[in-house]
Amino acid sequence: MSRTRIASAHERSTFIVECDLGTWHQAGFGTMSDEHSRAYCARIFADDLRGHELRSNKSAWGSFNVLSNQRWSHRNVVLVGDALRSVHFSIGSGTRLALEDAIALHRAVEATGTAGGALETFERMRRPIVEKIAAAAARSYEWYEHFHERMTLPPLEFAMSYATRSGRISRAQLEQVSPHFLSRYDRRAATR
Ligand SMILES: Cc1cc2nc3c(=O)[nH]c(=O)nc-3n(C[C@H](O)[C@H](O)[C@H](O)COP(=O)(O)OP(=O)(O)OC[C@H]3O[C@@H](n4cnc5c(N)ncnc54)[C@H](O)[C@@H]3O)c2cc1C
Repeated sequence: MSRTRIASAHERSTFIVECDLGTWHQAGFGTMSDEHSRAYCARIFADDLRGHELRSNKSAWGSFNVLSNQRWSHRNVVLVGDALRSVHFSIGSGTRLALEDAIALHRAVEATGTAGGALETFERMRRPIVEKIAAAAARSYEWYEHFHERMTLPPLEFAMSYATRSGRISRAQLEQVSPHFLSRYDRRAATR
């Protein structure tokens, strides 16, 4: 299980600190105040912050909760968003999925006019889409759960492992978006 600390605010970047449970305990984060924790992280990431301040915004440490439901509804009660399934934040799709759930549910109600019919239609339309993204999110979550094992990889291999962790980015896509990175990676792989 890994632990995550988040700081975010309007017009600033979100800064996520992720570590495994052993590191979290060893550093003593569990017994530190919020301010102490913030200052400690600011020291660790001083090079990355390049003189910028690390701010706290109710940035409590937390563990990601994996949640899924076999059944999406019961009588006239239906689950949407994170209540239906958690999507690991690393793929950045939880809000989109929650909003798309709400839109799909609205459309299903409009189209069928009955609660039972609407919920069935909603699930039939949404399940394949949701399951595909949830599977990608689960792979990304697994990557994060074991990222400490990859910390010894050379930087290019680590970056490749990270970029392809969820299985949503193919080599062809990488070639399009990061040709320079890919050619460096290939050159390095050829010399190994
Ligand atoms: C660190 C992090 C980064 C993320 N980054 C992204 C991103 O880049 N892109 C993205 O799309 N998604 C991202 N997400 C995921 C996204 O935040 C969630 O998937 C999304 O907020 C889910 O929306 P929701 O309405 O289902 O649930 P929530 O936003 O959790 O809303 C549920 C609401 O219900 C309230 N509530 C809970 N219990 C009760 C109760 N008993 N009575 C009344 N109210 C209650 C809560 O207070 C909350 O306001 C991120 C998540 C995290 C943790």
